[in-house]
Amino acid sequence: MKKYAIVGFGGAGYHAAKAIRERDPAGEIHVYSDTGFAPYNPMLTTYYVKGSLPYEALFPFGDLEHIAADLRLELHPNCPVTGLAGDSRTLRLSDGSEVPFDEVLISTGASAVMPPIPGLDLPGVIKMRTVDDAVGLKNLLDSGKVKDALVIGASWVGIKVVEDVVERNIPCTLVDGAPWIFYVAAFPSTAQRAQKDLEARGVTVSCNQMLDHIEADENGRLTAIMQSGSRFSADLVAVCIGVRTNTGFLKDSGLAQGRGITVDRRMATNCPHIYAAGDCCEAVDIQSGQHRNIGIWYNACKQGAVAGTNMAGGAAEFDANILCNLAHYLDYDFICLGDVSACTDSDQVYEYEDERYYIRAVRRGDAIVCINMIGSAGSNGLVRNLFIKSIENPHAKPDLSAVCQLQKNGFPDSFIHFLGGISID
Ligand SMILES: Cc1cc2nc3c(=O)[nH]c(=O)nc-3n(C[C@H](O)[C@H](O)[C@H](O)COP(=O)(O)OP(=O)(O)OC[C@H]3O[C@@H](n4cnc5c(N)ncnc54)[C@H](O)[C@@H]3O)c2cc1C
Repeated sequence: MKKYAIVGFGGAGYHAAKAIRERDPAGEIHVYSDTGFAPYNPMLTTYYVKGSLPYEALFPFGDLEHIAADLRLELHPNCPVTGLAGDSRTLRLSDGSEVPFDEVLISTGASAVMPPIPGLDLPGVIKMRTVDDAVGLKNLLDSGKVKDALVIGASWVGIKVVEDVVERNIPCTLVDGAPWIFYVAAFPSTAQRAQKDLEARGVTVSCNQMLDHIEADENGRLTAIMQSGSRFSADLVAVCIGVRTNTGFLKDSGLAQGRGITVDRRMATNCPHIYAAGDCCEAVDIQSGQHRNIGIWYNACKQGAVAGTNMAGGAAEFDANILCNLAHYLDYDFICLGDVSACTDSDQVYEYEDERYYIRAVRRGDAIVCINMIGSAGSNGLVRNLFIKSIENPHAKPDLSAVCQLQKNGFPDSFIHFLGGISID
């Protein structure tokens, strides 16, 4: 009987456990988690804070007891793994004990970055990743004590905290150290449109503002002092400046790592019997062919399932690792497909704007390099699939049903042509 270990029980860990159990009814599956929570979806935390989801909805697979019974898991909650020895196939636990495994999955995700900047530990300074972060922010906002807020970091998480604040009619300022918002994913023109939309909802936006430190006065009111000398005061400061993979405990493991644990399409690492999936890993980006850490829920769940299948003797590959970031916020949504930084001046650029859409897309020869779209909520999945198809085969054209769907959703014919489709009367 095989002994499996899963380290970290989020979307990736859960789907791995499920895939293992489907293939191996008898194996022992040990799950080590540094929390006592059932697997939760961090992307839902801000919806809970906003009040649009109940607390239980954070846990899409149900409670721990039922999950453990259904999948016949040996759970080890509040039991962080502190080391891994690939040659002896053992995990080290925080009490110093060592436990053996035949196959292990590392699915420890990522944590919000809180650098050692003075003032980040002050009351009223928050981050957003975990259930505890969400409960803390909701309580703070529900207390009515927050009269204004500052969000540092104009990216996927920061924008959701802006939404939480603005939906409660609390004045909000959004600052970022980069020259424009959504810096890694947006063309400057896309960012301009997104900023205009935010300003229309009363958000003050200020870029090129790198945090130096945060101070509190005797009443607990916070002031963020920027390297530029600018000062932003607020009752609440949300620090949303990125994530770091939870892989520090692997430093002597011999596992190849870049920004995350390097894996192949089978989610296998460079060490036999050791797999990694989700936000903690770097899988092959099908666009660039390079390893890339792409931390999104879809990837975590699919990669976990692929790893679990292979750990239990199956043969599966994850072939959809692609830069795809999506944010729904306030009345808007923004999706970026592909790598903005890979675009060059000699590429062919398509741009379109009307009341509903902003689109900027870039093509090099037959291949689409990158697409930015604002306002396309109903079609994001469809365009993502077309993008993936175009990477797999640059000569592929959108099929009839895709074209009809794009037309139905009000996309201009020019965009359909840019994607290689033929519009239909
Ligand atoms: C506010 C917010 C908004 C987001 N929005 C989106 C979105 O719109 N779309 C999208 O696709 N994605 C979004 N994401 C990202 C998405 O939530 C993650 O990509 C996904 O949840 C990653 O799942 P995971 O299982 O890899 O990691 P996690 O969910 O981080 O789970 C890892 C688990 O491992 C545990 N762990 C860590 N270290 C150890 C250890 N040493 N021992 C034992 N256990 C350990 C952690 O506590 C955690 O429970 C968002 C995330 C946030 C925070």
